[in-house]
Amino acid sequence: LNNNKESLSAADKEFENNIRPREINDFSGQGQIIENLIVFIKAAKMRGEALDHILFHGPPGLGKTTLSRIVANELGVNIKETSGPVIEKPGDLAGLLTNLEPRDVLFIDEIHRLSTVVEEYLYAAMEDYRIDIMIDSGPNARSIQLTLNPFTLVGATTRSGLLTAPLLSRFAIKQRLEYYTADTLQKIVSRSASILGTKITSDAAGEIARRSRGTPRIANGLLRRMRDFAQVLGNGVIDLGITQHGLKALNVDEHGLDEMDNRILLTIIDKFKGGPVGITTIATAVGEETGTLEEVYEPFLIQEGFIKRTPRGREATHKAYAHLGRIAPGSGGV
Ligand code: ADP
Repeated sequence: LNNNKESLSAADKEFENNIRPREINDFSGQGQIIENLIVFIKAAKMRGEALDHILFHGPPGLGKTTLSRIVANELGVNIKETSGPVIEKPGDLAGLLTNLEPRDVLFIDEIHRLSTVVEEYLYAAMEDYRIDIMIDSGPNARSIQLTLNPFTLVGATTRSGLLTAPLLSRFAIKQRLEYYTADTLQKIVSRSASILGTKITSDAAGEIARRSRGTPRIANGLLRRMRDFAQVLGNGVIDLGITQHGLKALNVDEHGLDEMDNRILLTIIDKFKGGPVGITTIATAVGEETGTLEEVYEPFLIQEGFIKRTPRGREATHKAYAHLGRIAPGSGGV
């Protein structure tokens, strides 16, 4: 199931936007982050100042974009949205920044993918609300300094490890989004279903929640597919039977693990005798960047108890062996 924002179709994006919480009260989970944001937003409003720059980091589909829009909404300002790779030249950045009204939010998704030149222009903009732009070229080239309206930069990234120290230090507020509990995901699924006008039983919502890798985007995507199964195979109500059938038909993993998760576990178990094995070695074996493994995949596998981090590397746990139908060494099996 799709949890990669870049490969979402237009229809997927429209679906996501329809069910995206707009108010802070509709946003479930991430309790500490929400509490902090409420304080920071209130304080900024009381002082009539732009809110400090915020970095949201964490795995995909956990609500970074959603929270950024909610922040702008709570501040009562506009939000302009862009992403790191889209801002190709300093001029693109200048265009965005000079169009901001006082205290507006500029949202840069995938901020780790900004080019070095653009990033350097961003420093002065973030720090002093000014930007130098070059006008003319050749012998007439000169730079002029523009003063910007105070604004809030909200950056989002799945790979905070790739951010440079100077950029990181310019975000006064840094918040890491965590995987959601099944209880919270169940609430999210039920809310999404009611927005879609689809009936779902609470045990079915719970089942979807448990198999969604702690991720609202995956839970909502599964809900959408279960709605199809319910419509075609049942009477339109998503109940537990339909859900179990649908999840099986889609090959959704019992613990919500995705293909890469399973590949990582299989690699540790089959190629490296269960570990310990270094993260770089695993990364090479599965054909993924070490940083992506560390920031996107491994946290969930560790949280759910499939992998253990030891001083000598990563080890597969008994739970991982059992999940993959392998027999763990020393467990008395043949
Ligand atoms: P990210 O930017 O972290 O990749 P998004 O903010 O785009 O994630 O969220 C992905 C989807 O999950 C959206 O459709 C959004 O509605 C839903 N979602 C994310 N977090 C929550 C939440 N806390 N409550 C309800 N829905 C959520």
